[in-house]
Amino acid sequence: MTITGAMTGTTSGATREPFTLGLTGGIGSGKSTVADLFAARGVPLVDTDVIAHRITAPGGLAMAPIAAQFGPEFVAADGSMDRARMRALVFSDETARKRLEAITHPLIRAETERETREANGPYVIVVVPLLVESGAWKSRVARVLVVDCSVETQIGRVMRRNGFSREQVQAIIARQATREARLAAADDVIVNDGAKLEALAQDVEILHQRYLALAGAQNAAR
Ligand code: ADP
Repeated sequence: MTITGAMTGTTSGATREPFTLGLTGGIGSGKSTVADLFAARGVPLVDTDVIAHRITAPGGLAMAPIAAQFGPEFVAADGSMDRARMRALVFSDETARKRLEAITHPLIRAETERETREANGPYVIVVVPLLVESGAWKSRVARVLVVDCSVETQIGRVMRRNGFSREQVQAIIARQATREARLAAADDVIVNDGAKLEALAQDVEILHQRYLALAGAQNAAR
């Protein structure tokens, strides 16, 4: 396991407040594991997957527009989005997927910004599994941290964690950005391939100190 990325100031989001780090990685790379290690150091997390789920839960912000545009058959009995039905639709219908995203993406963005503003901590980590795939996120964060491992490691972990077959995991990975594309978008990289959790925690600690310094520099420049 190694950490790369020099301490070279901030990028496009430097004027945003608070200092915001985007955390991403492929499925099974160890994003949640790494995010939890930062959280244990007092860094607030904003998780876009959690927000996406919340806005399509009963009474969620996306539910009225979804019912209006897709019809009541896409709303389950409890008032949440009928996920299985919507998944089947957007899997086969690109226009429907774009219409759904036109509802959800602005809401996810607005909720992410609100939670980031309201978070209390030295800096904020926004966990965006599809940061590289949905390009705009990169410009909304000061810095991108990628959790990286081999595809074979991803497959093994997700088969164990979710009980999926190798083919199921490979199909998910095939829909995500490639490892190379993710690394190209990274300011910092944690390589989490066969790493012991203690070693991972040490890497997180080194990065945490770096981010504290960058956040401090951003505050001092105001
Ligand atoms: P992601 O959020 O990127 O999908 P997770 O953090 O959930 O990935 O990690 C996937 C699985 O692999 C989890 O069950 C996690 O406990 C395990 N895992 C992650 N990193 C390591 C590691 N360094 N050593 C052992 N198990 C790990």
